[in-house]
Amino acid sequence: MALDNIHIDYFKQLLGEENAKIDSLHKVAYSYDATRESREPDMVLFPRDEKDISDILKYCNENLIPIVPRGAGSGFTGGSIAAQGGIVLALEKHMNKILELDTKNLIVRVQPGVINKDLQNFAESHGLFYPPDPASENQSTIGGNVSENAGGMRAAKYGITKDYVVAIRAVLPNGNIIRAGKKTIKDVAGYNIAGILIASEGTLAVISEITLKLIAKPKIMRSAMGIFDTIEDAMNAVYKTMASGVTPVAMEFLDNLTIRAVESKFNKGLPTEAGAILITEVDGNLEEEIQYQLELIESRFKENGCIEFKVAKDSKEGQDLWFARKNASQSISIYGKKKLNEDITVPRAKLPELLERIGEVSKRYGFKIPCFGHTGDGNVHTNVMVEDLKDLDKGHEAIVEIFKIAVELEGTLSGEHGIGLAKAPFMKLAFNEDEMNLFRSIKNAFDPNNILNPNKMGL
Ligand SMILES: Cc1cc2nc3c(=O)[nH]c(=O)nc-3n(C[C@H](O)[C@H](O)[C@H](O)COP(=O)(O)OP(=O)(O)OC[C@H]3O[C@@H](n4cnc5c(N)ncnc54)[C@H](O)[C@@H]3O)c2cc1C
Repeated sequence: MALDNIHIDYFKQLLGEENAKIDSLHKVAYSYDATRESREPDMVLFPRDEKDISDILKYCNENLIPIVPRGAGSGFTGGSIAAQGGIVLALEKHMNKILELDTKNLIVRVQPGVINKDLQNFAESHGLFYPPDPASENQSTIGGNVSENAGGMRAAKYGITKDYVVAIRAVLPNGNIIRAGKKTIKDVAGYNIAGILIASEGTLAVISEITLKLIAKPKIMRSAMGIFDTIEDAMNAVYKTMASGVTPVAMEFLDNLTIRAVESKFNKGLPTEAGAILITEVDGNLEEEIQYQLELIESRFKENGCIEFKVAKDSKEGQDLWFARKNASQSISIYGKKKLNEDITVPRAKLPELLERIGEVSKRYGFKIPCFGHTGDGNVHTNVMVEDLKDLDKGHEAIVEIFKIAVELEGTLSGEHGIGLAKAPFMKLAFNEDEMNLFRSIKNAFDPNNILNPNKMGL
């Protein structure tokens, strides 16, 4: 249903023509995310501040106009797509400022459209550290990161976005503004509303300001790689190392199919016969600390079948070791026209069984399923590669199998990409009716008219 002219005129008046767009260029540019699914909104609005967000939401609520918040549109589940048309509320254009750095309390206050890497660089320029580093760090916004609870390579040691959020300001669908959390590290007064907003995928409120914790930046970092004959050995090495008194910053893996794909594309001399490689990184302030951690990791790896362990001598060698992991996602496209990628996560000790059972799914359905990812936190990117598009339905059946396995192993449908549109049909695999009803009650308490990002998360 197209947006009435009366509404279009209201928004143009409110924000100025330059911030209220209905031309096809803007509609197309704000119609998709990284899923490459798309639906054109009727209008794209660029709020200049929190008051604009409040006025826009109040009007949408009174007139029952669907509205979808959007950061950079780098999401992998269709969360920022206007599935029912209506308005896309684009936060990256004006609301992208770092508002305050409090070096006495190690706190930073930002608008939602700040790009993750800009915040990391800003923190580093003050000798501080903002650890969450999703691979989309150069595009994705802090508002999007909070709304998806994004994680990155450093999550094994430093945790994910939620571990850094201390307070949020947000605008409710009726236009009212709420504050959740404080500048303090501890706050147990009242319900944890900030906790509910984190990972809420723009379905409950529009996040208008975020206060984040920063930490001290370690001075030394060192990377290493372990090569394994079998994937089972590598997965055993992951959980046994992580449980042995060392917490590496990162513990990433590539399986044989992924190693071969990167090698065929980039010719980097990777061990194409290996069952898997693990790439790890440690940090600290003293060389002795670094050596201690690396020695412990090497011995745990070798006890679990590691046939070669290489430590990077300098940052250039470190970057070389990371090259394969950083280029894994694009390289595996050699295996099929359509990549059905998921980000299931299991407790780390279940990784060997998970990978074995994914191997069985691959054989049973006849699809190559290259896997790589953040094994340090049990998060595996599984990629069902569909060669012939007529097999797409069968590909989706294989995905359902993989989700079922993750849930059976006490894991989750998504470690970092969220549910959005893409995983909405699978929520019932992970949650019973009572749990889904509780989600619906929470949605209804925030958004009784269902105007904010409707049709998402299977609600
Ligand atoms: C190449 C690539 C690599 C990636 N790597 C990772 C990774 O390593 N780890 C990871 O976790 N993710 C990763 N992602 C997924 C994606 O980048 C993250 O989910 C990211 O947090 C999305 O941020 P965004 O600004 O692009 O949000 P968008 O895609 O614009 O929006 C995502 C969701 O958040 C909502 N939203 C956005 N801003 C707000 C706001 N201010 N208030 C309320 N709701 C809001 C939207 O409605 C939507 O539901 C990757 C994506 C790509 C394309």
